Amino acid sequence: MRWISGSMAMTLAACTPVTQDSSAAPPPDTAKADVLDSISNLVDDEIPEQLDWRQNFPTWYAPVTPYRIIGSGKTGIYYVGTEGLGIYFIPTSAGHILIDGGMPGEGQYVADAIRKLGFDPKDIKILLNSHAHLDHSGGLAELKALTGAHMIASEGDRSALEGGFYLGSEDDTAMNAPPVKVDRTIADGETLTLGDVTLTAHITPGHSRGCTSWTMPVEQGDKTYQALFFCSATVAANRLVGPPQYDGIVDDYRKTFSRTRDWRPDIFLTNHPEFADMPTKRERQKAGDPLAFVDRTGFPAMMAKLEQAFEAALQKQTLKYNAIMQ
Ligand SMILES: [Zn+2]
Repeated sequence: MRWISGSMAMTLAACTPVTQDSSAAPPPDTAKADVLDSISNLVDDEIPEQLDWRQNFPTWYAPVTPYRIIGSGKTGIYYVGTEGLGIYFIPTSAGHILIDGGMPGEGQYVADAIRKLGFDPKDIKILLNSHAHLDHSGGLAELKALTGAHMIASEGDRSALEGGFYLGSEDDTAMNAPPVKVDRTIADGETLTLGDVTLTAHITPGHSRGCTSWTMPVEQGDKTYQALFFCSATVAANRLVGPPQYDGIVDDYRKTFSRTRDWRPDIFLTNHPEFADMPTKRERQKAGDPLAFVDRTGFPAMMAKLEQAFEAALQKQTLKYNAIMQ
């Protein structure tokens, strides 16, 4: 099964062109292409045992000036991620909340971004995680040590966070992340209140067993907007068949597509920002549009593409698996 294991790291982002040979010419600039259209193009090639994440996914490490996405004064939702990894900071009247920690080693980067916004990272009380894959959970242990915040996560992702592995690919050490202790688990539909901010957890499994999306109302001017932090629903590195990444993964993806079909958030935010076209929205915001991130059609459009890509990947993996087994 090395063929899938080998493809794991390569397809983690499922959209980022990867150069396997450092001496090869860089891939053509596909950044402007619709990244979601390329999601079903899984890479099945072998990868070197040692994967240099920084070289293969440079945008995951490229700094971005932190900014407020929506809100007024010192409230709202702030972007403290890198170019390729969405990380979200939510200040409250009783300490702060952070969603995701980036790659291993990026904790300090995130703390610095929060300081640049005029907040003290030591006031973070709650750490959350969209899902237990190293590009979103890798910096959490460092951030926990830095802030003393409570780590709150779903039961489905707890073992991977605490074990520092990619569930179902425990031997793939390139996918490991520094283990982080989960202080409290949160279930589907449960709310989390800190000061004047309340977040609601929505378990949207498939991409990981405990993939957790969050919603919260956020005010700007005299209006309230519903914001969604969407976990993910790409297939990316996941084995859907023979043996699956985890039991029930295919049903989980389908349940997630079905339950999100009616979701119409005013603002949707993703942990790979290009999925929500965030760089374009940020440019519009900089040009003076205070509601640049309000986008009520973007989420259903993304989900429709992800569902198609999922069914295509399932078919492709099934054909490949059957061919191997014959
Ligand atoms: Zn992931």
